[in-house]
Amino acid sequence: MMAKQKIVCVLYDDPVGGYPPQYARQGIPVLAAYPGGQTMPSPAAIDFVPGELLGSVSGGLGLRNFVEGRGHSLVITADKDGPDSVLEKELVDADVVISQPFWPAYITADRIAKAPNLRLAITAGIGSDHVDLQAALNENITVCEVTYCNSISVAEHAVMQILALVRDYIPQYHLVVNGGWNIADAISRSYDIEGMSVGVVGGGRIGSAVLKRMKPFDVALHYTDRHRLPTQVEEELGLTFHSDVESLVKVCDVVSIHCPLHPETEHLFNDELIGKMKRGSYIVNTARGKICERNAIVKALETGQLAGYAGDVWFPQPPPTDHPWRTMPNHAMTPHTSGTSLSAQARYAAGVREILECWFDGRPIRDEYLIVQGGHLAGAGAHSYSEGDTTGGSDEATRFKT
Ligand code: NAD
Repeated sequence: MMAKQKIVCVLYDDPVGGYPPQYARQGIPVLAAYPGGQTMPSPAAIDFVPGELLGSVSGGLGLRNFVEGRGHSLVITADKDGPDSVLEKELVDADVVISQPFWPAYITADRIAKAPNLRLAITAGIGSDHVDLQAALNENITVCEVTYCNSISVAEHAVMQILALVRDYIPQYHLVVNGGWNIADAISRSYDIEGMSVGVVGGGRIGSAVLKRMKPFDVALHYTDRHRLPTQVEEELGLTFHSDVESLVKVCDVVSIHCPLHPETEHLFNDELIGKMKRGSYIVNTARGKICERNAIVKALETGQLAGYAGDVWFPQPPPTDHPWRTMPNHAMTPHTSGTSLSAQARYAAGVREILECWFDGRPIRDEYLIVQGGHLAGAGAHSYSEGDTTGGSDEATRFKT
């Protein structure tokens, strides 16, 4: 039997109004499998009701009874940033760390160096760039995530934000809330998307779901990826493939970003690349904030090179209260919510439980969940990431004040 493990789980704060919240609906649909046939998370059991809030501290991903019942210890905290944080203190003798990208526990090389027992970093979600993957490779730490758990959740959010930007929904909403009715003002930046060119960067699980969902809008669809999609998919969706991102952005009116953050994609959308886009283009970024260079986005919105920017990902998270993306013109940003709908939480909580069951029992973790294992990129990580670290600058998260 595995020796007693200490698990540190970093989750976002409970609702301001207290836990549990009032639920709008009675439950969530039961899905049979993911598109393409990958099976749903399959733990031996779950100790939560799907559709309940699991991602905050009191929800605890529904793990406490299971972990403690197996004789291991579980620390759950939202206090994650800075040298005096609970995370920093508890990590020192932790074996396993669990974190959600929405409220990321930045597992930097410095923190890894102070945590000699750390062997497993689980992302309760998708996107493990908050872990210094180079340090995990060097220190033989396994990094895994719950592949596919919220890919469709994010695709839905991206489509919503593409339409919100092009039709200019948010200002129209504020206009009615504020008692106004000037139609000329309301439509001054509002267009139809029909006939436009829409491109995605990264045609993986989310990117291809966005392409599929945009097809009925009668737009021209483009994508770029380091792996080309099967010809049958390209033909069904009428896709134009671009071997590089420059070629894609030059012809698109809307660009939706869906590649992971790794050294090749860090600050990919900088002044130079945005300068190659058509004037008045839109960017939607639900991948990672750092794929876009912060000040380049602000400048492009101010000059009109970009007509709008939306997404739900920021760097760092939480972003300081004076982060310029909160106040830049013509944006339709949300907090990092797309992948943590109540529906998505049920899947990734079950996926984390499945991973922990494997870990405690000494069974292999599913290949598709792996990012780093045995000192190499593995599974989904080998397909979608490059080696290296993208956590630099994450300590700025300490500047967020509620
Ligand atoms: P995926 O692995 O199925 O797809 C990623 C695709 O990006 C792959 O096809 C890969 O080949 C491609 N890619 C990698 N490097 C590239 C590059 N330099 N240029 C072009 N393409 C490149 O993963 P997914 O489920 O589609 O998720 C993608 C990303 O979305 C995650 O890594 C994560 O960062 C982000 N995400 C965000 C949320 C959210 O809540 N906002 C939730 C889930 C995932």
